[in-house]
Amino acid sequence: MKFASFLYEGQTLLVPEKLSSKEVIVDSPVASISQIPYWDTPPVTPSFTYSKQIQRYLSGKQLLLEELPFSINTIYEHYLNGYITFVKPINQLNERFYCTRCGNDKANLFASFLCARCDRECMYCRNCIMMKRISQCTPLVEWVGPEMLFGNEDYKMEWNGKLSKGQKTAADLFVKCIGSREKLLIWAVCGAGKTEVLFEGISEALSKGQSICLAAPRTDVVIELAPRIKKAFPMVEVVSLHGGSEELQERGQIVISTTHQLLRFNNHFDLMIVDEVDAFPYSIDDSLKFAVLKAGKNDATVAYLSATPDKDLRNKADVGEITSVRIPARYHGLPLPVPAFRWCGNWRKHLKRGAIPEQVNNWLTEQIAKNSQVFLFVPSVNLLESVFDSVKLKLQNVETVHAEDPGRHEKVKRFREGKTCVLITTTILERGITVSNVSVGVLGAEDNIFTESALVQISGRAGRSADYPTGDVVFFHYGKTSSMIGAENHIQSMNEEAKRKGWIS
Ligand SMILES: [Zn+2]
Ligand SMILES: [Zn+2]
Repeated sequence: MKFASFLYEGQTLLVPEKLSSKEVIVDSPVASISQIPYWDTPPVTPSFTYSKQIQRYLSGKQLLLEELPFSINTIYEHYLNGYITFVKPINQLNERFYCTRCGNDKANLFASFLCARCDRECMYCRNCIMMKRISQCTPLVEWVGPEMLFGNEDYKMEWNGKLSKGQKTAADLFVKCIGSREKLLIWAVCGAGKTEVLFEGISEALSKGQSICLAAPRTDVVIELAPRIKKAFPMVEVVSLHGGSEELQERGQIVISTTHQLLRFNNHFDLMIVDEVDAFPYSIDDSLKFAVLKAGKNDATVAYLSATPDKDLRNKADVGEITSVRIPARYHGLPLPVPAFRWCGNWRKHLKRGAIPEQVNNWLTEQIAKNSQVFLFVPSVNLLESVFDSVKLKLQNVETVHAEDPGRHEKVKRFREGKTCVLITTTILERGITVSNVSVGVLGAEDNIFTESALVQISGRAGRSADYPTGDVVFFHYGKTSSMIGAENHIQSMNEEAKRKGWIS
């Protein structure tokens, strides 16, 4: 759609090409919105009867015109009465472009195409292309009318679990932060029970009528969190948003979302919680960090959760730039399993001859003999098959899994149900999976892919359940690395801290 601008009572107003008539004397040529240098948004007309439906749909978001199921006439009427504004999608300063939706300003992440809508070379942002193409001529539409308020009477929390001492300490601090502009890091070891730590704080935010976002980089986490939050707050509208979700247009007081989906929000949430803040792709993608900040209000409370926060966040906590709290103990009160290191020679060479090292084989057999299931991590996808061929010579019910595996969810499900004995996996399962009686082996722990935080997360798969609080963790290696030693130190220091505090026995 093209636009023109006209002067009205001292204001420069936009008019869509379709609606410009002879009565409106336009001051600019009909053109792509990117060519109109400036426009105003009229003041709110209080007597105007605005559409509740549009308010519900658009409140707190910035959406493309084509994402809105309303006619341009209706939208434009709301603009003229000050309830909606049009935002330039891609800004240009000298030769530099800047995407309003995702914050991208890297020249190589913009491209142009011959656009039928604006009859010219039109620049679009490649960085956020998965959210529908945003180009220079497609304005973002934003609601600037009255905010949709949530009631704060009927939310009642249906969670009566008991928090461990570590959880309680963090939960109390979190509650204190609600309603402030505080940024908080909750550093909780794998298996600390961090979701439960959030309940009291969420409840506090609900009592203030706040809108709440629980964001995570990975879809799996969103899918896993949604039913738990819905169960704890059954009277609250809870919406979960991820690539494959059907609730994209729903509105909720609690939104559980991938960090990607937050790109559609703008200045909306009072409380932003970012789970697994060190996980891929959030950890390396600045536009997702941008999305989190943009989705929250300027005075939002922001809580970051992680078992392995990155250096930047840890430094900020150390110098007091952000508030932080650590939960070094698991909820069941027993220490984290410390990895054992086992040198196994040039295992790649072994594998080329068709066998995994004897030590690994023996260890696997021992685990199965004591009825434990096993995660066996390997450094890359192309090793899966040869490791599999070797393992299955001695053991039954063995499977492999990796990120692109079409049967991934099924295989993980089978493993959870105890139908598989050994699951050979890439780092894809380093996080987010809890199986009660499981041992963890890493073959080739010296590989670069196994960073300190990856190894801490991997080790964190073992001993999570109160029924099986211990679990074997073994790093099979061909030379110790600083990451391996770092992971061991990390886990040990958490155990020591928990012991000092009297939180583990
Ligand atoms: Zn973009
Ligand atoms: Zn265009």
